[in-house]
Amino acid sequence: MRSAKWLSRRDFLSSVSGTLAASATVAVARPAHARYSQKLAIDGGPKAVTVSPTPRPRWGDVELKQLEAMLRQGSLFYWGGPQTQLLIERFKQVCPVQWVQTCSSGTAAIHIAVSSAGIGPGDEVITTPITDIGTVIGVLYQQAVPVFADLGAGTYNLDPADVERKITPKTKAVIAVHLTGNPCDLDALKAICDKHKLVLIEDCCQAWGAKYRGRPIGTIGHFACFSLQDSKHVTCGDGGVVGTSDERFGPLLQKFGDKGGDRRKWGGHEVFATNYRMSEPQAAVAAAQLTRLEEIAQARSRLGNLLTELIANIPSIIPHQVHPQDRAVYWFYMFRIKPEALKCNRSQFTRALIAEGVSASGGYIAKPLYKEPIFLNHSFFAGRWPTKEFGLTDMDYTKVRCPEAEAILETCIRVYIREYMTEEYIRQVGQAIRKVAEYYAA
Ligand SMILES: *Cc1c(COP(=O)(O)O)cnc(C)c1O
Repeated sequence: MRSAKWLSRRDFLSSVSGTLAASATVAVARPAHARYSQKLAIDGGPKAVTVSPTPRPRWGDVELKQLEAMLRQGSLFYWGGPQTQLLIERFKQVCPVQWVQTCSSGTAAIHIAVSSAGIGPGDEVITTPITDIGTVIGVLYQQAVPVFADLGAGTYNLDPADVERKITPKTKAVIAVHLTGNPCDLDALKAICDKHKLVLIEDCCQAWGAKYRGRPIGTIGHFACFSLQDSKHVTCGDGGVVGTSDERFGPLLQKFGDKGGDRRKWGGHEVFATNYRMSEPQAAVAAAQLTRLEEIAQARSRLGNLLTELIANIPSIIPHQVHPQDRAVYWFYMFRIKPEALKCNRSQFTRALIAEGVSASGGYIAKPLYKEPIFLNHSFFAGRWPTKEFGLTDMDYTKVRCPEAEAILETCIRVYIREYMTEEYIRQVGQAIRKVAEYYAA
């Protein structure tokens, strides 16, 4: 229905005049039934967004109280520390898993998971090219090979069918990134991993509080990896948490997070690992922050879903696609424009939107990970890549293509979602997107 209406308008326009659409005076080419005849704010018209939500401090008395308690301790070391214990206890309420290790970052959490899963030289790990590079840093440090699979056009998450196509006899694991806090299709990914005996690692760094079909994310795969970096939903400046309920991997988390030793029985260095420990001051802040999480997750989920309702029937827009039974926690909201349905490019659309008063930005990461110089040059270790030099892989990142991921990055616009934003603001954001889209409709 939607696309039929859209096509008929395009057909109408092209039948009227081919030159009209290409005309610089866009106002002339606007269809007569356009709902917004107002001048865009960027051209001096009235702003669609008139309210500006007041930012709320992200920390305060709760954190202060926890930090005071921490400073009265005789030691600030994590092992057996009360702040670390409290953080682990609260983490298990958010993500009920049996073994938990706190660590220094989300990158560390994923590296600990990858090492504990036994990923080593030449092993292949399938993941998404649209993510923080921290998703694959641990894979590369294990001398293993990130293999990039393509994404869903509206979910921006791994397309299970393409994941399955990328499986080879060398594949050992899949890292599912819940991008922006929108849960991946975990049933499909888990079924593929079970069938091919692969380890499923959930990168939940952007997804604190998200739920997959009512279940906390991080509890479906073999590993849950979270980041507490400053920009995430909850934070202690920098930090991470890794968890598992798999008895094969559980006892390894502490070793791989803490120089390979087993602190329960001093020494016993059976595995090689670096120091990824989190200190008690960080744990104190993180534990306090977790008391705020449910409210943050609920607010963001509500605001993001509302925005989808508001822009769902705009023909030139692809809204953020979330499964109705999932709770997405919108680290940010990301929609796509359909360039063929617009007379402006992404940068013009974004500038117009910002002028309307929307907190937005065009694009996300600059390029898919495989197009970053470090991948194109295969120069991970002092300019070299032993894994390739020793013939453990014939991966050539210059030949990797994920067409949907590339199209997503060319057409996406991010709208910032914060827990303190009001429904009124989001309604005006919806109006702003509609106004700009109608104005530039092809
Ligand atoms: C932030 C992030 C990471 C890395 O977390 P750090 O704490 O910055 O190391 C990994 N994956 C995703 C999806 C992230 O957003």
